[in-house]
Amino acid sequence: MLSSGTSFGEASNGAVRFSVMSGRRIENVAILGGGPAGSSLATHLARRGLGVALFTRGKRPPIIVGESLLPAIVPHLRKLGVEKEVASFSRFKGGATFIFDQKGGMSFQFHDVPSVSTTYSYNVPRDRFDETLLEAARRAGAQQIHHSVGLEASEGEFLRLDEESREAARSALGADPDWIVDATGRSRLIANLLDLPAIVGDRRDAALHAHMEGVPMETEGNVHTDRLEHGWGWRIPLPDCVSVGLVVGDEFLHKFGNSSEEQFDAYLRADAVTREWARDARRTTPVIRYTNYQLRSERGCGPNWSLVGDAFGFVDPVFSSGMLIGLQSSEALAAAILKGTDRAFQKYERFVLRNLRVWQQVVGYYYNGRLLTLFRVGEYVRQTPPGRMMDFHFRRHMPRIFTGEGTTNPYSLGLVAFMCRYGLAGNDPRELEVH
Ligand SMILES: Cc1cc2nc3c(=O)[nH]c(=O)nc-3n(C[C@H](O)[C@H](O)[C@H](O)COP(=O)(O)OP(=O)(O)OC[C@H]3O[C@@H](n4cnc5c(N)ncnc54)[C@H](O)[C@@H]3O)c2cc1C
Repeated sequence: MLSSGTSFGEASNGAVRFSVMSGRRIENVAILGGGPAGSSLATHLARRGLGVALFTRGKRPPIIVGESLLPAIVPHLRKLGVEKEVASFSRFKGGATFIFDQKGGMSFQFHDVPSVSTTYSYNVPRDRFDETLLEAARRAGAQQIHHSVGLEASEGEFLRLDEESREAARSALGADPDWIVDATGRSRLIANLLDLPAIVGDRRDAALHAHMEGVPMETEGNVHTDRLEHGWGWRIPLPDCVSVGLVVGDEFLHKFGNSSEEQFDAYLRADAVTREWARDARRTTPVIRYTNYQLRSERGCGPNWSLVGDAFGFVDPVFSSGMLIGLQSSEALAAAILKGTDRAFQKYERFVLRNLRVWQQVVGYYYNGRLLTLFRVGEYVRQTPPGRMMDFHFRRHMPRIFTGEGTTNPYSLGLVAFMCRYGLAGNDPRELEVH
């Protein structure tokens, strides 16, 4: 446990930032929350011989969002040693389809993207996916503790587990943890306890999520993003059903009924795009509602703690970036914990903040209509001689953003930003804006 001998720096606002580990290694870590971010962090640390107490909480809702994975997540699944198992219960995902309106849309397949290193991904039932990652953590040697963990502030921004959780961690690790990681997702235990500053997104949507049978798809296996008269929706094909989401202004939805079920069923029948494909579809689960999810902390580390996954920040569901950011961040955080220095934690914090900012920027191009306009312009420019010459270059860089590989590449990102600004050939992006 960190105590005397630990010095720590101060941020410009006087808040304590990171601990300087005074040459001490972090040996025991408490991870709060066994979702994808917490479990994968546990695996990385336990494999390197650290003591890991992984706190998990019992029941979750019958269905959970986060079912469509980006191709860039696949190398992380391989490193965790779970790709084969994930493939065995998931639906192969070969590409993405964007519906602009009832007149149509466009699809692309990942294997058509030149230079992309992973050309497929998976649509996963979240209960089995989470259990697979948790089992990998247990195999690596993490000690799972079934307990709804609590925290208390000790001195300054130092934190410790509450008494019951401390006891449980001690009996699992034989010592108190010297580092605490918040991986509790939207519970955001540390951010709430310390009232950390956060950036709140400007959408006021509710996401209504259910599973359905009999939903037709334009391209089998592809994740579908439907632009609706109000908001947008997803169709994610799973092995024996389709996950359907409606992401619509929360206030607007109240016109369609009082309960989430009434709103989901009525809006599906009312919208011009969804009523086409929902004609013979049947909902097989309750409807789960998510609101206020666009939230990212401005800080991710303190003197004896860090945040990872949604507990650090979540941007928006539209490009399925959440699980990728969670797994990328857990790997980056494991590296920082193994080093245990100020610099390493600062590097981790910068990495996640940049990642979230970049995704926020790309998501903005979807909502303001620029991205869909660009896709539409691309369809006819590609038929012209100069368009044909440029096509390979654009195909090499732009779709990589949507496989998750391009967001770390400044050129791909810059090209998307440039084209969304200057490449719309005089078309008004407001026509494809998402209301
Ligand atoms: C509407 C919507 C749609 C989305 N769709 C996608 C998608 O298609 N693809 C994608 O990649 N991402 C998607 N996401 C994002 C994705 O769901 C999250 O980014 C991902 O689940 C984050 O993983 P996590 O491990 O950080 O948090 P979580 O998955 O939320 O896991 C946190 C865990 O902590 C546990 N916990 C909480 N409090 C405690 C406590 N006190 N003690 C012990 N345990 C605790 C919880 O029970 C849970 O198991 C979507 C998000 C939303 C809101």
